[in-house]
Amino acid sequence: MLINSSKMLLNFFLTSRRNFFKYSLVTGLTCVTTISLNSVARAQNNSSLKIVTTFLPIHLFTKAVVGDTGQVNILISPGTEVHDYQATPGDAKLLATADVLVENGLGMEEFLASLVANTGNSQLERIDSSQGITVIEEEYSEHEHHHEGGNPHVWLDPVLAQQQVATIRDRLIEIDPSNADSYSNNAEAYIQQLQQLDNEFSQRLAPVKGCKFITFHDAFPYLAQRYELRQEAIVEIPEDSITPQDLQRVQQAADQYQVKALFTEPGIEDQRIQQISSDLNLPLEAIDPLESGETDPQYYFQAMRGNLEALERACK
Ligand SMILES: [Zn+2]
Repeated sequence: MLINSSKMLLNFFLTSRRNFFKYSLVTGLTCVTTISLNSVARAQNNSSLKIVTTFLPIHLFTKAVVGDTGQVNILISPGTEVHDYQATPGDAKLLATADVLVENGLGMEEFLASLVANTGNSQLERIDSSQGITVIEEEYSEHEHHHEGGNPHVWLDPVLAQQQVATIRDRLIEIDPSNADSYSNNAEAYIQQLQQLDNEFSQRLAPVKGCKFITFHDAFPYLAQRYELRQEAIVEIPEDSITPQDLQRVQQAADQYQVKALFTEPGIEDQRIQQISSDLNLPLEAIDPLESGETDPQYYFQAMRGNLEALERACK
């Protein structure tokens, strides 16, 4: 009797457990079903397409095209040096859950090769925004910072920038056709603004064609080529230390050609550059390579109009 009641108790217990499991299984399935329905719904209107960009100008162009149809994150936050960037664990995390990665290309983002491989995100779609652009070889190809793909600073030419925006648009439409209309319309509006900017550069720099300027960052050969100016870069990137030989080259360039101005960058205070400027009696101006700044797509125009004014002032 005692044994029997124990058996009954055990049976009762087992039955309850089974019911409990059955119940959890049903609840679990309901959850799974709800989640998959949600993802289907999200995939259908793609409101959650997760896009990651590498650095500022690519971020501005991508945000301009995406508008509010997706989420756009940036890997290299503005203010961080772009040229010698080393990936962080946070970058791997961001890429592991991203749908799309938008890059400048031309060797600017060499850190991506191992980073992307390590995240193991086989679904990640990559957009190389400089695809199809004819590159200018770098002035200092023997330099340690030599980029595989030629000079990468294509975003500083408002015409090539239009090409980058169009490439980002076309690839986003391929990846996410359900939002094709909004990508198209957004890109169209931004490209029109870039065209307007190009007109302003063409008109205002036409009187100073051939103007030669010296930079301490080989960032403006595309801009110079577009508007028939001449950039002489003394060092390739701002972080390169300026040697006495470099200073001699500035002196020689200034003597040899009719150099109009020295260009430093916003936020760079280099005593030696100021010294050269006063020694050679060359005005010192600031020109922005847009490797850092604000993340609103309109910031591109603000910074580029500042560059136009600085070039006009310097080349007069
Ligand atoms: Zn640069």
